[in-house]
Amino acid sequence: PLFVPRLPSEASGATTDAPPAEDISADDIFIAVKTTKKFHRSRLDLLLDTWISRNMQQTYIFTDGEDEELKKKIGSHAINTNCSAAHSRQALSCKMAVEYDKFIEAGKKWFCHVDDDNYVNMKTLVKLLSNYPHTQDMYIGKPSLDRPIEATERLGDNKMRPVNFWFATGGAGFCISRGLALKMSPWASGGHFMNTAEKIRLPDDCTIGYIIESVLGVPLTRSSLFHSHLENLQLVSKSEVHKQITLSYGMFENKRNIINMKGALSVEEDPSRFKSVHCLLYPDTPWCPPQVTY
Ligand code: UDP
Ligand code: MN
Repeated sequence: PLFVPRLPSEASGATTDAPPAEDISADDIFIAVKTTKKFHRSRLDLLLDTWISRNMQQTYIFTDGEDEELKKKIGSHAINTNCSAAHSRQALSCKMAVEYDKFIEAGKKWFCHVDDDNYVNMKTLVKLLSNYPHTQDMYIGKPSLDRPIEATERLGDNKMRPVNFWFATGGAGFCISRGLALKMSPWASGGHFMNTAEKIRLPDDCTIGYIIESVLGVPLTRSSLFHSHLENLQLVSKSEVHKQITLSYGMFENKRNIINMKGALSVEEDPSRFKSVHCLLYPDTPWCPPQVTY
């Protein structure tokens, strides 16, 4: 699972000099963060103190329990989905369904989904999405497998059909243009997403890939600038950090899987490295250690 190959149809990097297809700003992006009540303090607070603090207007938190402390911090952008707090396929699809509906309702140009162990660099995200018109069919992210997933579609009357498709791993974050999201509506809006997920009995991020690639025939555009903890994050070094769109952290074989970044704060003070990343990107942040050359 640590092998994430470079594949064709790589999205334009955030460093191209080509003029943007569309002059968008952060306000055109709807960022959905998936979380669960037990991670509000241990994971979400770190995001609220770092990247979300700079992007309050475009970030929405999708959770499964009431939390006054969270409401104080982000108000109506904390959305209780009333989905079950279990890690089941159904509970996760239930949250994705609410994310989709809220995005459609919000009227923004781009939908981006991330997990609560992702750091989002809004500046590079805006740059990437500016390469594409939001009215075009766009699905951008990073696959976690080196081949399409093989699934079985349940057609009713006990009929089955094998389907192969690529999907962007939810743990690295992915984005969908409004043009494409609107076409997904018959399979994704209201209660439809849950029914679609049941047809292939796979997790929420696979269901998104199924609707887009198998049903609508729109290919995934790969970007190597999205990162999940399924890959070896040591390969992302400090000099490259500012170019990335998403980062993550996790454990692998009892060892920390974190980006390779020394300086700013120690691993003890900042085990995820997200605070150090934030201080590198926003050195004027009050709690960042002063007089350090990042
Ligand atoms: N999550 C959830 N409900 C749960 C467990 C996890 O909504 O019962 C969310 C969690 O907040 C995170 C995502 O699902 O945004 C992935 O969870 P985690 O990072 O723990 O697992 P992974 O799949 O990355 O190993
Ligand atoms: Mn995770």
